[in-house]
Amino acid sequence: MKFLNRQKIEALSCFKSDKYLTTSFFLDTDKSHLSRKEIQVAAKNLLTAGRTRLESLGFDKDKKASLTHDLDKLQEFCAQNSTDNSHGLAVFSCQGESFWEDVHLPHPPRNRILFDHNPYIRPLSQILGRYHRICIFLVGRTSAKWFSLHMGRIAHLETLLCELPSKDKDGDFDGTSVRRIERHVEAHVHEHFKKASQYTFELFKKEKFDWLFLGCEDHFYSDLEQFLHSYLRERLKGRLKAKPSDPEDKILKEALELEDTLSRAAEEEDVRRFVAELEKGGRAASGIKESLRGVNQLEVQSLLVTHNYAAEGKMCPKCRFLYLEEAVCPSCQIATNPVADVVDEAIEATFKQHAEVCHVTPPSKLDHYGKIGAMLRFKI
Ligand SMILES: [Zn+2]
Repeated sequence: MKFLNRQKIEALSCFKSDKYLTTSFFLDTDKSHLSRKEIQVAAKNLLTAGRTRLESLGFDKDKKASLTHDLDKLQEFCAQNSTDNSHGLAVFSCQGESFWEDVHLPHPPRNRILFDHNPYIRPLSQILGRYHRICIFLVGRTSAKWFSLHMGRIAHLETLLCELPSKDKDGDFDGTSVRRIERHVEAHVHEHFKKASQYTFELFKKEKFDWLFLGCEDHFYSDLEQFLHSYLRERLKGRLKAKPSDPEDKILKEALELEDTLSRAAEEEDVRRFVAELEKGGRAASGIKESLRGVNQLEVQSLLVTHNYAAEGKMCPKCRFLYLEEAVCPSCQIATNPVADVVDEAIEATFKQHAEVCHVTPPSKLDHYGKIGAMLRFKI
């Protein structure tokens, strides 16, 4: 079983079978609100619903046999894999092509099963959009600790301990001597901060994190900040109250809350930039029709989509251009095929073009612009 990442979504978005359909299966396995029994029952119900739907759809013999094989394999898989610790499960199967991918999800998806021409990746890209690669840097007077946080999973990276000179070493307590020793101690603390900051930069070069969360006492902050490399200062997105000595679950909880707050703020900022660009008549397209045109012409830099916004549409079987209602592809002059959710197809195409997809939580200003929009590389 693999964990979700961008490469995985890109690979899934490239899979397509001309002969068979793909089953996409999503299951909420979050043990914080579901018992194992409930998860097993939900999986069973979902597969039963899938079999009923399969019977009602008039697929040809080969397609039906491949989908039935998908469901059999899923049933076996769910019976064997009910004990994992992830919050969700996504499986994509096309047994006619011997294709199978199962992915652990850090966030529970909506339970569903779909049969379509390609893997239904939208729930994955929504989940991916919520998370960043984060470095947690906790520092105190005598210690520093680093953790990585990605997709809700925390991992300890390193601990640094600094031994301070003992204050009563000289046994000489006249004022001058105490001040001298204090200065000596402070120089050590200073050196410790410097070393810890440099090590954070080494980690950044290795791990390439997007965001840095810093946990330190307020009066250390200005001292520490001066030692942080400018690349790190750019990525410093927030402060934590957590200390190096705190238990891991406490650190994780606080960091996840901060990540969530920042993600929401980033979403709002994406929409604000989009609206500003649109209103000045710049490099932006709004509404489904214009956004699809941007996708077709490979001009999308980032696609903004309201959560759960879906629309039926058309796809040209030859050039794979997406349309809202064209019965004939204007570019190839051949009949288009209906697609159940053209928004999902647009998200897949955007992924394939290595452009960004920003999922926006409603209500937002994007609602006034047709729930979907695109920032373009250049003006159409
Ligand atoms: Zn075409």
